[in-house]
Amino acid sequence: KPITTDMATLTQEIDKFARDKKLEIETLKVREEYRKEFLGNVSHELKTPLFTVQGYILTLLDGAMKDKKIREKYLNRANKGVERLIYIVKDLDMITKLEVGDLSLKVEEFDIIELVKSVFDLLEMKAAKKKITLTFDMDYQNPINVMADKERIQQVLTNLVVNSIKYGREKGTTEVSIENLIKNKVIVRVTDNGEGIEKMHIPRLFERFYRVDKSGSRKEGGSGLGLAIVKHIIEAHEEKIYIESEPAVGSEFSFTLEKAK
Ligand code: ADP
Repeated sequence: KPITTDMATLTQEIDKFARDKKLEIETLKVREEYRKEFLGNVSHELKTPLFTVQGYILTLLDGAMKDKKIREKYLNRANKGVERLIYIVKDLDMITKLEVGDLSLKVEEFDIIELVKSVFDLLEMKAAKKKITLTFDMDYQNPINVMADKERIQQVLTNLVVNSIKYGREKGTTEVSIENLIKNKVIVRVTDNGEGIEKMHIPRLFERFYRVDKSGSRKEGGSGLGLAIVKHIIEAHEEKIYIESEPAVGSEFSFTLEKAK
């Protein structure tokens, strides 16, 4: 950098330096707030299942251990709690990596139809418990090849279909469809006829830990991170995600992907 001799330029540079520093401090402050809020949310999310597990263990230690049936029941419940903790920690790990930008995409060509089918296979049992039918337009004769990170898109589909089951109605339907768009894009839609979402909640839905009905959603499990993860993954692909929803009618989550040449 050339040495400045002229006073006016020097003053200007000092001003600019001060402004930059101020901006930097503001950014750091925002980040610090964000970090505090995040940590607060994390400990809150972990507390509930931890206390549940502790509750079962304490009851067992308190004498419930003697009865084989009760012992098994409580150990199973404690195990469910631990499973939930593992699930939350995995989601936290994923969101942290995504937010730090630590997760590079492994973009490859794959058939999105095959991927939807494999996600359905994995979630069939979960859907059956609520008598929900997973449907996929069987008119697709030929593969639809896209360019994306297959594992991450599998996660997106999984999170959306799991939500459609969790917030779907008993004996309801989840439908996945794929449509060609112009400019070498496809749009993947996940539609349910479940409880739907009030308009006021929609803008905040993709925030970490945001839930429409705190108690109701918690009963359904989950970490409140599912949609935040979905959004990050889609944005990392430079693609778009949309929601359409109506209370008591259902919801549709859709996202775009690039078609393989
Ligand atoms: P959670 O672990 O609570 O499911 P998500 O980030 O996946 O967290 O979803 C955030 C919230 O959005 C949920 O708690 C629920 O209130 C709402 N939601 C998500 N998907 C649906 C859906 N298909 N139908 C109705 N509400 C939904």
